[in-house]
Amino acid sequence: MPIISTGDAASHGYDVIVVGSGAAGGQAAYTLAMEGVRVLMLEAGRNYDPLTGTAMFQKPTQAPLRGEGTPDKPFGFYDATIDGGWQVPGEPYTSASDDPRRQFWWWRPRMLGGRTNHWGRIALRNGPYDFKPRSRDGLGFDWPIAYEQVAPWYDRVERLVGIYGSNEGRENTPDSPEGVLLPPPRPRVAELLAQRDSAALGIPFIPMHRAVLTRQLDHRRIPALLHPHNPRAQRILAADMQRRAACFHATPCGRGCSIRANYQSTTVHLPPALATGHLDIACDAMVREVLVGADGRATGVAYIDRRTGVERQARARAVVLAAGACESVRILFNSGRPGAGGLGNAAGLLGKYIMDTVGSSLGGQVPRMESLPPTNDDGVDGQHLYVPWWLYGERNVARLGFARGYHIEYGGGRRQPDVGTGAGLAGMAGDAMGTRLKEEARRYYGSFVGMDGRGEMIPNADSYCEPDPAVRDRYGIPVLRFHWKWSEHETRQAAHMQETFAQIIEAMGGTVMGAVEHDGAKAIEPGGKIIHEVGGAMMGRSARDSVTNEFGQLWESPNVIVADGATFCSNADKNPTLTIMALAWRSTDELMARMRRREV
Ligand SMILES: Cc1cc2nc3c(=O)[nH]c(=O)nc-3n(C[C@H](O)[C@H](O)[C@H](O)COP(=O)(O)OP(=O)(O)OC[C@H]3O[C@@H](n4cnc5c(N)ncnc54)[C@H](O)[C@@H]3O)c2cc1C
Ligand code: SF4
Repeated sequence: MPIISTGDAASHGYDVIVVGSGAAGGQAAYTLAMEGVRVLMLEAGRNYDPLTGTAMFQKPTQAPLRGEGTPDKPFGFYDATIDGGWQVPGEPYTSASDDPRRQFWWWRPRMLGGRTNHWGRIALRNGPYDFKPRSRDGLGFDWPIAYEQVAPWYDRVERLVGIYGSNEGRENTPDSPEGVLLPPPRPRVAELLAQRDSAALGIPFIPMHRAVLTRQLDHRRIPALLHPHNPRAQRILAADMQRRAACFHATPCGRGCSIRANYQSTTVHLPPALATGHLDIACDAMVREVLVGADGRATGVAYIDRRTGVERQARARAVVLAAGACESVRILFNSGRPGAGGLGNAAGLLGKYIMDTVGSSLGGQVPRMESLPPTNDDGVDGQHLYVPWWLYGERNVARLGFARGYHIEYGGGRRQPDVGTGAGLAGMAGDAMGTRLKEEARRYYGSFVGMDGRGEMIPNADSYCEPDPAVRDRYGIPVLRFHWKWSEHETRQAAHMQETFAQIIEAMGGTVMGAVEHDGAKAIEPGGKIIHEVGGAMMGRSARDSVTNEFGQLWESPNVIVADGATFCSNADKNPTLTIMALAWRSTDELMARMRRREV
């Protein structure tokens, strides 16, 4: 990969600087470079080559503690997040409250590709209701855009990265145009059983949408659809698509995919963008602030080399912030005129209304799945089926006691053994030893199921971040201080999740493992723990009620684009990354149009 040094990054002129290399930065750099824009990408983390750096085939027995998570590697020894986590050495964040329920957990990657090297690859579109929630129930905020305005960019992202799934015609769960989605994998035994037994409860199990190639992308057709009138981009993309293999099953996607069958920025966005020759990437470049001229427009960024501590500046016509929602907000707080409270903060809204996803989990054991004959049930790692929110008709607040909904991520069955899939065994096998323990393992292995609810959070005024006046990181940059509060809409939703999970397990003839938590305040995961943080630089219709316009352009400084989840006005139950990518593509298309008109 043509990676340049942090010193070289400062010595060239660029059209656009992109800060961050994850889903948003990868998409922005791809869109711009493929169309001939000269891009500099600055990434705080270290370089990472997924083709050589991925522990795809290693066995649990080859890892310390059989690969179990540790404070350094919470998702396990082989997790693709090589640098980063809940705590990053020398880069603290603080909490305004000592109460654990009022604290926010902030996961930060520090590697090329960001969180996309690890993410769960669940790629759901927001639906029409999700862009206009306030119009439906009077809570939160409407977006300044409707689903129909984003749909063409969802189509583009799905075609580029490759998403499996199906069109089910369900309420607020959009279909994709014919021929866009890849075929979903065959459901596993545990999924078929849940689907059958939950039907009587009115709970639908349908194919999941995930960013995994169940077959190779059509390199003859798709490049022309994505880059009409640009034969060079078409050639580059067609060649790159042929280097991505279809999934061969069985290896955990969270370790990354060296055959490039799933989406990572490092395997999908960056290779073709680099092949254009229009993209330079400098790693270990920690951006501190956007530099602004006397006219209020950005002239570039100031950044610090993480290894040497040397500070440098890079110049460009426009700056795209894609450092992850809260980090982009932090950069804006550190930018602009002294005393202004940050660039883009004229309305006092910077850092406000940060959101995560509501999360709650429950597991069970299902006797009907005991002692099944060994079969290869692995399939594509991750969910083949899931439950979309099915109670839109309830007009939620009146009947359910909470607004908005959740979906269920379900798993179970006989997959390649690891610490997680065997977790229930200890509870079932009791004090069995020797041959009997082996028999018990054969009997119970694959009979456990687990469910994770992922629900919508309504933005509230008590959840925000701001610069901590007293704490700086090891580069001397002020750190963020978080304020957090779940409302009763979220805690009641978490209690509803628990009760629904128990109903599903019981409908399958199983037994809940552990206790069903009816107190939503205890059932809900801490804020930030689901790692779907968005908001903090909300988009809107005017500079009075928002930080950016519908294209992520700062009202205050129109050549600064916020391309990540910071601009979200709500956080639907749909995991955010597909929407982040669709909006990043839409925003950079608009940026290029403005650059052509010399407005930027
Ligand atoms: C375990 C896990 C599972 C997940 N599963 C899903 C899922 O199934 N579906 C889904 O939709 N989402 C999922 N997510 C969330 C998803 O990863 C994020 O929504 C997505 O990666 C956000 O993209 P981003 O580009 O905004 O940020 P990131 O991917 O975090 O990328 C930001 C990049 O910016 C860099 N950066 C930060 N600060 C600076 C700075 N000051 N200067 C320069 N560079 C900087 C970072 O090092 C990083 O590389 C998951 C996340 C995790 C961790
Ligand atoms: S399951 Fe498929 S997509 Fe996931 S890492 Fe393995 S080969 Fe890649």
